[in-house]
Amino acid sequence: MQTENGKLSSDMQTRLTFLGAAQNVTGSSYLLEVNGTKLLVDCGMFQERKLRTRNWQDFPFPPSSLQSVLLTHAHLDHSGLLPKLVHDGFHGRIHCTEATAEIARIMLLDSAKLQEEDAQNKRKRHEKEGRRGPHPETPLYTTEDAQAVFPLLSPVKYGEPVPVTSGVEAIFRDAGHVLGSAMIEVAVNTDGGKRTMVFSGDVGRWDTPILPDPTLFPSADYVVMESTYGDRLHDKQKDVEEILAGVIIRTQRAGGNLIIPSFALERSQEILYHLNRLLLQDRIPHLVVFVDSPMAASVTEVFRRHTELFDKEAIDFIHRNGSPFDFPNLRMVRSVDESKTLNYIKGTVIIIAGSGMCTGGRIKHHLASNISRPESTILFVGYQAQDTLGRLIVDGAKEVRILGQKHRVKANIAQMGGFSAHADRDELLKWLAGFQKPPTHLFVTHGESQTALSFADLVTSTKKWTVSVPRYGDRVVLS
Ligand SMILES: [Zn+2]
Repeated sequence: MQTENGKLSSDMQTRLTFLGAAQNVTGSSYLLEVNGTKLLVDCGMFQERKLRTRNWQDFPFPPSSLQSVLLTHAHLDHSGLLPKLVHDGFHGRIHCTEATAEIARIMLLDSAKLQEEDAQNKRKRHEKEGRRGPHPETPLYTTEDAQAVFPLLSPVKYGEPVPVTSGVEAIFRDAGHVLGSAMIEVAVNTDGGKRTMVFSGDVGRWDTPILPDPTLFPSADYVVMESTYGDRLHDKQKDVEEILAGVIIRTQRAGGNLIIPSFALERSQEILYHLNRLLLQDRIPHLVVFVDSPMAASVTEVFRRHTELFDKEAIDFIHRNGSPFDFPNLRMVRSVDESKTLNYIKGTVIIIAGSGMCTGGRIKHHLASNISRPESTILFVGYQAQDTLGRLIVDGAKEVRILGQKHRVKANIAQMGGFSAHADRDELLKWLAGFQKPPTHLFVTHGESQTALSFADLVTSTKKWTVSVPRYGDRVVLS
């Protein structure tokens, strides 16, 4: 491997440029230049407040010059800038699994709608305040831009070699992170010989419900891996159903509602699966469960269509009991009118709604109706980032502002750990242990600086591998 200033500079070099998720968590995007062509692995949106301005910058290459995109999974921090890429001239194929294509359509449309609403709100606010913001008051991309991505999505199957461009073949393997998620092995044949690269995408977890374990790779010359939780360990997941059952029983006895803020992809389906298992074992009362999120309802449909991607335990469940996402008293709420009627229910029902950190979406209405009722419970099942309404509530705020109104927090606030779609430090090491010989180089990406650096140190000191933590825009020549 050489830096860009090395002697080998020529069009036929294999080069890798880190265009995101480099000492930060979002905006995953790696440009691979090989045999005179350009490929992009992921095209993610930057979501950290201080980095969002990068979403508005021009791509550092003409998008029309790009041969194709390899997409690991549908989360927006990996797929969210595809509409902009297509709008700016990209017209090649976007290789991804069928489930990723189906989920990406749902998520990109939702993202475009948010971009459009955001631009409209900004325009109104700036007009009122008589000032201009740092970005144009036009959406980053529109619904039409998102729709223009769809014909380019080119489904691949796990384990089948995909010819990508001259001398380059990719194989997608299950990452066990979210439905359809992949780790991508790229084999590059050049005059200098054959090289393999593994892009981890987001590394999933072992022994989680529904999805299989992450795939291990015996060897690779270069590895690009995520490190989101590279310095932390998750709570054990064993007691999830025990805790969930306890919360439900207590809330029913108190006579309130159980409100669960949840992400639309994976977390909502996991909760339904756990609820279904508890109901079948008669461990909880048979309450009505509302999934009040059109996006979660649509994603659940994708899960229903792709049971072939489930792990053995979930497939056995289907053989014995039918779909994990169907049970009596489960209602998928799509219309706004129906959603509004839920605000009048005094108890006891279970309402699952987005967004997972209470930053927007229908959950805000359910919080407004329930947070001041001591008999109701708000159950958090995901990480709550700094500066979000969800974080304020779990941190014990006595009063919160929801939809412009102040509300006293009197409901029971509960939190369940163990629900993460990302491998923790030890699970990342377990994934690396699959490599039977050290790669030529390991690039640690997709983690906050401190986290990525400390994980890289750990791998260097324990395994004696050659490891680096690239910075935004770094470009390396792969020998
Ligand atoms: Zn992800």
